[in-house]
Amino acid sequence: MNDYENDSNAWFEYYSRQIVLQQIKASGQNKINKTKILLIGSNALVKMSATILNAAGLSRIWIFTENDTHANFRGPQNLDALDIHELSKLEVNDFSLIGVFTNQIEWIRKINRALFMKRCTVFGGWNFQNGIAIYGSSYPKKPFGDPCIECFEAWNQKFLANEEKDISLQWGMVSMVSTELLQWILTENSPLLEKIWITTVSQGMSFYHEIHFHEKCPVGLSLS
Ligand SMILES: [Zn+2]
Repeated sequence: MNDYENDSNAWFEYYSRQIVLQQIKASGQNKINKTKILLIGSNALVKMSATILNAAGLSRIWIFTENDTHANFRGPQNLDALDIHELSKLEVNDFSLIGVFTNQIEWIRKINRALFMKRCTVFGGWNFQNGIAIYGSSYPKKPFGDPCIECFEAWNQKFLANEEKDISLQWGMVSMVSTELLQWILTENSPLLEKIWITTVSQGMSFYHEIHFHEKCPVGLSLS
């Protein structure tokens, strides 16, 4: 915890540029400061998000990271100053809000399965080709009938691929997902829930794609 959180004048001063916003105000800033969050995924991407969220006022940040063999992003120099708790195994029980940042599709599947019967809200994203995909999803899921991220994969395999991505697209994806996480903390609402927002630079496309239930969803089948 930072000193300014024990001193209300310093607190107002420190967050004044956020508190002045009608959508945040002091009550919203308090929510941000008190939120406990789990960030999962690539080490570099998770730490980018932790930096953004910490700057906005989150200090209760837990991370669980994959071995990221081709991360080409070196995190900001002051990361050691952040109050980050590293989990040694994927332990999702204590978190109602989770961010997922990975371009390893196996990880998106693994996390979907770990969360399937837990109560939580997830915002995540990945990069594909020259684009950004971000999504939101509420758990728990019913094995048959509730669409999940693997239902989306069953319908749209071309949008998921493991390949190295341009760093500016990775940064864009992390910024967008982190913004959705903050929006959720403030309003518990998001236009992204059970949708994927896909943006590609070269084709100039940007659209919401609803996630529909797919009877070939491997999670739905395996939990039957
Ligand atoms: Zn599914």
